[in-house]
Amino acid sequence: ATPTALLVGTGRGAQLGVLIKGPEILESTRRVDTVVLDKTGTVTQGAMAVEAVVTPSGRVPLDDLSADGRAPARRGADRSGQEVEDARDALRHAGAVEALSEHPIARAITAAARELATPRTASAPSGSDTGDAASTVPPRTVGAGTGVGADGVAIGSLQTFDFRSAPGGGVEAVVRTAHSGLSLADGGGLTARRVLVGQPSWLAREGVASDPALDEAFGAAEATGASAVVVAWDGRARGVLVLRDPVKPTSAEAVQELKDLGLRPYLLTGDGEGAAREAARAVGIAEADVVARVLPDQKVDVVARLQREGRVVAMVGDGVNDAAALATADLGLAMGTGTDVAIEASDLTLVRGDLRSAATAIRLSRRTLRIVK
Ligand code: ADP
Ligand code: MG
Repeated sequence: ATPTALLVGTGRGAQLGVLIKGPEILESTRRVDTVVLDKTGTVTQGAMAVEAVVTPSGRVPLDDLSADGRAPARRGADRSGQEVEDARDALRHAGAVEALSEHPIARAITAAARELATPRTASAPSGSDTGDAASTVPPRTVGAGTGVGADGVAIGSLQTFDFRSAPGGGVEAVVRTAHSGLSLADGGGLTARRVLVGQPSWLAREGVASDPALDEAFGAAEATGASAVVVAWDGRARGVLVLRDPVKPTSAEAVQELKDLGLRPYLLTGDGEGAAREAARAVGIAEADVVARVLPDQKVDVVARLQREGRVVAMVGDGVNDAAALATADLGLAMGTGTDVAIEASDLTLVRGDLRSAATAIRLSRRTLRIVK
């Protein structure tokens, strides 16, 4: 292979939205027969939204939780005030912890929790309307957004300290609540709770007592392809947050193109079976080729196992948790919309974050190598 012809290939790649680290990489794309796709942020939009909050007293859709949705007429006869109050409490506590996490799940929960503190319809800062619990925010805390102080973060009337993240499991922190009417400076007006948000198996390992109704809600949510996390405090599960991350509009077409190039696609995720299967179905990946509930340091094992079976593996990912797998794969492709760690670990970057560029890159390199020969 003459270096000049290969460099022409890399230049064309840049035009097509594919950044190639070096011309030698084109060579390894030729033999690739397997493509492992990370689910979250790669096949899906990576931007989740909270769909509903379930507590032992019931399930409340997010739309009915915003401060302007609390009018009795909107709640209907079958939705009790308690149901809404408990759901709001669960979301606010989860949001206070997740404000310190970068995970897509965390971003969705934080955004939803902030919306509780600031009704969509309100132009003035919260505290001036409806008489709602979340709007009676003590003046010294941050109303809508997140404020990073010397010792913590505040959302609404909650303040967060001692944040810890367990990769692939969840997050925890101490959340302080200021009781209405008392300032945070007055220690007598505070409740401090150790709040955990994450998947049930991790919460169980952390000694949290489960709740049968919540276990059922968690399973039901995952069965519909949604993602779900449990929020717990004072050692007990308090609520299930149901989230959904839609598949990117171009992903199904991209998977078809990869198949047309003779590659066998796999879906790899730390997420649960239900969400993984639903995403796979939506883009046309066989159920047998879905690997779910994979811990971050096990993603690399899946790639290595396929390589031991004699496969030549391309991996497409976007997250910090994909970096090792991207580096181990025969060809690592990072979403340009993903983390710097993933991009650095990869051979190729799909600038537009469009999975179709993965097929483009492989097609381009095969064509380039044909010209070279
Ligand atoms: P993926 O590979 O799909 O991006 P991760 O390995 O990042 O998944 O996360 C796996 C699982 O760990 C999530 O589905 C969730 O249950 C839990 N988890 C990770 N981070 C968080 C967080 N910040 N808040 C709640 N749950 C989390
Ligand atoms: Mg990811």
